[in-house]
Amino acid sequence: MKILILGVNGFIGNALVRRILNTRDWEVFGMDLYDNKLDHSLNHPRFHFLEGDIAINKEWIEYHIKKCDLVLPLVAIATPMSYVKQPLKVFELDFEENLRIVRQCVKYQTRIIFPSTSEVYGMSAESEFQEDSSPLVLGPIHKQRWIYSCCKQLLDRVIWAYGQEGKLQFTLIRPFNWIGPKLDDIDAAKEGSSRVVTQFIINLVNREPIRLVDGGLQKRCFTYVEDGIDCLMKIIENPGQVADGQIFNIGNPHNEISVKDLAYMLRELFQNHPDHRHDQEYSEIIEVPHEDYYGQGYQDILTRKPAIGQARRLLAWEPKTDLPTSLKYTLDAFLAEIRRLNHQV
Ligand code: UDP
Repeated sequence: MKILILGVNGFIGNALVRRILNTRDWEVFGMDLYDNKLDHSLNHPRFHFLEGDIAINKEWIEYHIKKCDLVLPLVAIATPMSYVKQPLKVFELDFEENLRIVRQCVKYQTRIIFPSTSEVYGMSAESEFQEDSSPLVLGPIHKQRWIYSCCKQLLDRVIWAYGQEGKLQFTLIRPFNWIGPKLDDIDAAKEGSSRVVTQFIINLVNREPIRLVDGGLQKRCFTYVEDGIDCLMKIIENPGQVADGQIFNIGNPHNEISVKDLAYMLRELFQNHPDHRHDQEYSEIIEVPHEDYYGQGYQDILTRKPAIGQARRLLAWEPKTDLPTSLKYTLDAFLAEIRRLNHQV
């Protein structure tokens, strides 16, 4: 099988290409703006990488969509700070550029696995979000946080419609707060624009306060990336075409925790880490209103828990890694990376 992965240097892309090359005989074509997360795969004979921009290298992309059996367009801005600070950039990249890719998949009859998002459920009141029945609830327009959710939802609907007309073989996946090595770039965390786990780790490393937005009572279910990749591999393999036309939540409902408890758990793991056991002081944990942290365009989701019956039933998938282990692996990887960067200086 020939697979095209756009955004292959991203958090999911790099973990996926590594798994594919290590465990299957498939050939992977990948594009990304950068290659800093791809050390493990760049020299592999079955990996063909182009450093490029999906908004520029359009001919390369079209040629490879035509040539490949499967496309995973993983290019997207996926951090809440960007939704409120750069909503148009989110629209242009996450929606417009990806719509072009979807249409080319239709044109060349290439199968697509499209990353939807747990954000599409928005502020849905359900205790567990179901792919095929939960309402998708967004806030008012001036709350720009929802532009990402809205872009992804509309693409879900467009893809679904092409599928319904028999023009596209597709699967939609909805990752729920995946974490693990290479989650965000350390520089993004320094600017305060990364996802919560990376942000807290960098705060700990820099002995800055960990800031709990609105007190940190909001909850998330964190999913270890390799568990998510297990599920994705089953979808790619698609035995009996079981994943065609389906939407899959990919998350770990057992790993639910409030942001506040997450902060305390991470600080404890950090204090027990050999590199930091003997530090003189550790970050304090403070509370900030969301307006101060993100600005007026922000609105939060208080619980976000996946129902995963669909993935269990159709794919026999179960997430395996518990929360303390997932956080430990993530923390260890970041601290190792920071140690490596410090040695380079
Ligand atoms: N959050 C926080 N402090 C931070 C960063 C994030 O309290 O320094 C909160 C954020 O308000 C949200 C949750 O952590 O409720 C998860 O944020 P993340 O950016 O990981 O993305 P989300 O799960 O909202 O998509």
